Amino acid sequence: ASRLDDDAHALPARRQRVLGRGLELSYREPVHLVRGEGVFLYAPDGRRYLDAYNNVPSVGHGNRRVAEAIGRQMATLCTNTRYLHAAVVEYAERLTATMPEGLENCLFVNSGSEANDAAWRIAKIVTGRGGALVMASAYHGVSDAVAALSPYYGPFAQPQAPFVQTLEPPDTYRGRFTGAGAAAHYAADADRAIAALQASGHGVAALMIDSAFVSNGILNVPDGYFAAVAAKVRAAGGLVIGDEVQSGFGRMGDAFWGFARHGVVPDLVTLGKPMANGYPAGAVVTRAELLRAFTDKIDFFSTFGGNPAAAAAALATLDVLQDENLQENALTTGRLLRQGIHTLAARHAAIGDVRGSGLMIGVEIVSERAHRTPAPELARQIANKMRHLGVLIGTEGPDGNVLKIRPPLPFGQRHAAMLLEALDQAL
Ligand code: PMP
Repeated sequence: ASRLDDDAHALPARRQRVLGRGLELSYREPVHLVRGEGVFLYAPDGRRYLDAYNNVPSVGHGNRRVAEAIGRQMATLCTNTRYLHAAVVEYAERLTATMPEGLENCLFVNSGSEANDAAWRIAKIVTGRGGALVMASAYHGVSDAVAALSPYYGPFAQPQAPFVQTLEPPDTYRGRFTGAGAAAHYAADADRAIAALQASGHGVAALMIDSAFVSNGILNVPDGYFAAVAAKVRAAGGLVIGDEVQSGFGRMGDAFWGFARHGVVPDLVTLGKPMANGYPAGAVVTRAELLRAFTDKIDFFSTFGGNPAAAAAALATLDVLQDENLQENALTTGRLLRQGIHTLAARHAAIGDVRGSGLMIGVEIVSERAHRTPAPELARQIANKMRHLGVLIGTEGPDGNVLKIRPPLPFGQRHAAMLLEALDQAL
């Protein structure tokens, strides 16, 4: 044990020496993890944490079916998609079967960033235009092209590129419009953005949008908002890119895909994070004619994208999601959690609003409920206190005051009770 303790104590300094200062660790007192199982994570000394934050291990940490599928495939064959292999074909068939008709072709990459990069490239080539609409505070990934579509917020806010217009977030808690007509009022901002792109000669290639509005603080957007903006973009000749990196694969509970909750069928859907439960995998799913128009001009090939091990991992993940009814679990546990947080709000004035769907939940922490004053320091304190109580959550949003609760999908009733107990104590 002493050897382990020595290693653990030396780790932060060693890490900083080789990884630099920039890559910030979560929590004031960082968490050192050596093992995960289901919805639990374990420190070297055996201390257990309830994971209410990580969406990548969506079918659970250390999932045996996924791990064994990867191991088996790695020990058998791992090549690339220029050779015939059944796994990637079977996965593409299974994946497109979960999507609306017409979204029938897949292009496989290795991350959400790469998926968004490829979708954006397809949109520019297909439309022959170069302008983009994104939500203010949006985050879509790390490539240079996609970083330009990621205004983000706070100290890491990015300057706006000339070919990008940002949309006013349809925030009915903190924004300008609430109640009836809010959807149309917010959507009207797309008219301004489209006109600006047309006036500057860029035109509209695409709208890229996260249908869970996570980096905006996990918004409950007014009904019809996304559909109205999508219609305006299409009328201007642009395509709709649905970024399902956060909202996809059942997490939202009431729909397998986030866009379906808004009554929109995107032209291009981008996938990442939970797709293969932690094995790097990403994809663009689109209509055959759009992919064809792209591949007529670009010989697109991703070395690792769709490899047999990635396909086996993604297949096993989809199997577990479906066999264990995890979308339904997200719906019922999510409801329970939000109800529980509403109950806590009666006793804790710091809870200003509870939002989200399924196991994507945002809790506004405010200093004055009547004025909805964001309390980011209090939100950070709550997340840090909960970490000490053994429950991991995060903070989110342009004001940094929204608690982000986004656990692996096998999160059940008793886990929800543990989280609520810790949140109550922390508050
Ligand atoms: N899109 C969204 C909505 C995201 O939240 C993220 C990651 N936070 C990405 C894209 C990029 O995914 P990755 O980091 O896996 O490249």
